Amino acid sequence: MDSINPNLSLRKKRQVKSIAELEQGILAGDRASLSQALTLAESRLTTHRAQAEKLVQNCLPKSGQSLRIGITGVPGVGKSTFIEAFGEYLIKEGKKLAVLAIDPSSSKTRGSILGDKTRMEQLSQNQNAFIRPSPSAGSLGGVARKTREAIILCEAAGYNIILVETVGVGQSETAVKNMVDFFVLLMLPGAGDELQGIKRGIMEMADLLLINKADDPKDPKVRLAMGEYKRALHLFPPNQNEWIPVVDSCSALNGAGVAKAWEHILQFERQQKLKGYFLENRSEQAVSWFDQQIGDHLFEYLKGLPHFESNYQQYLTEIRAQNLDPGLAARKLLNVCLGGIK
Ligand code: GDP
Repeated sequence: MDSINPNLSLRKKRQVKSIAELEQGILAGDRASLSQALTLAESRLTTHRAQAEKLVQNCLPKSGQSLRIGITGVPGVGKSTFIEAFGEYLIKEGKKLAVLAIDPSSSKTRGSILGDKTRMEQLSQNQNAFIRPSPSAGSLGGVARKTREAIILCEAAGYNIILVETVGVGQSETAVKNMVDFFVLLMLPGAGDELQGIKRGIMEMADLLLINKADDPKDPKVRLAMGEYKRALHLFPPNQNEWIPVVDSCSALNGAGVAKAWEHILQFERQQKLKGYFLENRSEQAVSWFDQQIGDHLFEYLKGLPHFESNYQQYLTEIRAQNLDPGLAARKLLNVCLGGIK
């Protein structure tokens, strides 16, 4: 049967690739192996999860050599246009670029805001770029885990710039901030009032605030927006890593300012490595991920215990009605399930 259905036969062949073969393929920079490994990491099956973890663990020593950059901004600000221009520029500079997207909104909208294939069409055809659309709908925690694993796998496959893109409207930015070295926020000129619906917290995370669509950098609207954002950033407490966030402008459409944006990032990298913050930040990110994962795994474990579900539902009702303190409820629930919690 397989012989008359080449797709099926291909799928079957793909499935039998062992973890060792995938690892070998990834380390050799084989895109098909990388894609397959990412699919494995995105799977919800327990067996796939274990395999993906093993693969990530094996690839870990070959990872870490990249610069991880988060890019965010509201829909329409020009993220994909920017990534296209920036990506082409970096590739000309001799880099290999992987673009990953975080879009947990897809479960609600029944369609990914970020993930459609027509985005970044040119870049996706470049041999030195690897674009992975957002994993299919899932919780933020799940999508974040997949993206973390994807970063390691892409690095092991030789990609030395990792761009992680989010839509800039939700919590995903905090997750991304916790997995990248540098965070870029794209904004629009002119519409500076109320900071364009970007939450204060997201602005506070930015290492570089780029005003896109500045096709004419002398445009008074651009200058006005730059001044406004500089003042806004100035009000935030200084970063512990001593980096002073930069405000600049660019035009993703005509490429102006793209090289300058890269200069800012290189300057950041040099400074952070010199001061020792670069690796410190990565270590802290790994530790905080470890803590978060303990919580997640524990929660999964608890869900499987006999008394969990009925008690959980009962507490939920009381918590929703504001009759029960969630902290107290959590402790009570743990006591019922595990005992010994004071
Ligand atoms: P995203 O939703 O943030 O990914 O935004 P897109 O990259 O899809 O861009 C939204 C629209 O803005 C598209 O029509 C782009 O052509 C346009 N656009 C993006 N960057 C620029 C720019 O620098 N200047 C101008 N004039 N238009 C731009």
